[in-house]
Amino acid sequence: MSNELTYTKKTVYELADKSVIDAAMSYAEDYKKYLDAGKTEHECVKISIALAEKYGFSEYKLGDKISHGDRKYFNNRGKNLFLFSVGSEPINNGIRLTAAHIDSPRIDLKQCPLYEEGGMGFFKTHYYGGIRKYQWVATPLSLHGVVAKADGSVVEICIGEDENDPVFYINDLLPHLGQKQSKAPLGEAFDGEQLNILIGSALSSDEEENSIKLNILKILNEKYGIKEDDFLSAELCAVPAAKARDIGFDRSMIGAYGHDDRVCAYPALTALLEATDGIHTTMCILADKEETGSDGPSGMQSELMLDIINEMAANLGGNPAVIRANSKCLSADVSAAFDPNFADVFEKRNSALLSCGVVFTKFTGSRGKSGTNDANAEYIGWLRSILANDGVIWQAAELGKVDCGGGGTVAKYISKHNIDTIDLGVPVISMHAPYEAISKVDLYEAYRAMLAFYKY
Ligand code: MN
Ligand code: MN
Repeated sequence: MSNELTYTKKTVYELADKSVIDAAMSYAEDYKKYLDAGKTEHECVKISIALAEKYGFSEYKLGDKISHGDRKYFNNRGKNLFLFSVGSEPINNGIRLTAAHIDSPRIDLKQCPLYEEGGMGFFKTHYYGGIRKYQWVATPLSLHGVVAKADGSVVEICIGEDENDPVFYINDLLPHLGQKQSKAPLGEAFDGEQLNILIGSALSSDEEENSIKLNILKILNEKYGIKEDDFLSAELCAVPAAKARDIGFDRSMIGAYGHDDRVCAYPALTALLEATDGIHTTMCILADKEETGSDGPSGMQSELMLDIINEMAANLGGNPAVIRANSKCLSADVSAAFDPNFADVFEKRNSALLSCGVVFTKFTGSRGKSGTNDANAEYIGWLRSILANDGVIWQAAELGKVDCGGGGTVAKYISKHNIDTIDLGVPVISMHAPYEAISKVDLYEAYRAMLAFYKY
């Protein structure tokens, strides 16, 4: 009797069949490929479209006709992707919606980045998202992005991912001269203006006007046809050059750049592509700009989601307000895994434990639940029932101790449109570090949770 009354969190290893664990290990192999091919939102949109087309999705543009049975994707400026599959039931029954973000903290280039000093060529940078600056120095970086030239052409750049490519680097201070810096608080020891990327040191031999900067411009012009003023209309960033790798003797975890939030985007996407019951209308949004507040036309605060719902209503004979009221959303974003090395910032009973499955976070925000979507108990009750049907292993958690900090997700930008929304995601170790870690079984339970969500 007492066993039936009490609730104890258990790991996937204790609860799941061996076949589930084996499937989790093989699912992780494809996820690692997705991580390596998609280190920026641009690249994630591209590889997600390629994957969707294999599953019969085709491009949708605003104003196109929408019919029952359609499997479509909408590419928003190459940085944000909407995928939807129109089910057979009336559209007024609502949409099963998932939203994850595909931008990650990184080092962006400024618009006038190139200079030389002290025998070295550099790019000036402006970091993107919540980074801890000390983690980004003295580590190999790759350069990704696009350069939009004045003639209308766009050059894509990706250097540092191939084994034969050069990499880039941010200089660190040697400990021998670091006495003063070592006494500074961690958040003040590095200045944003010191995060300059080392990009060259050679002089060109065949020029009268001789400089490191000119030599770099010559190389860039030969390879990409760009000139210095083309940086003015470029979006270039440096990200860790390291590839996704298994962590541990037992290979149970994955280390990679950008788990936040591709570890949720990938299951949200693949579950949508594979869900084939065809009854509900399903949608997956891969959003941009979450790490900087979801602003801009490619962020979740844009009205684009409403535009697409309105188009669905107009084409399928529905009422947008009714569609929204009957829709359900999983805001798919990561949670912090309880870390015994930093146990004092976690409240263990309500923290996400590694390998205990996908995490539901009823509320995010900070202090007295400020700035949060606080999911309805009834909605969580419904989710419990569908996850139980499919034996999905999940846990409930919040980020850390109540007064230690906090964070937000896109949940509140969706729920404000009268759509029941809850945060669901994968626990991450060292969130926002250049190399984060997750557990393969948690990733797989996120995928199984989304499959159940799209189905029931
Ligand atoms: Mn996130
Ligand atoms: Mn984040």
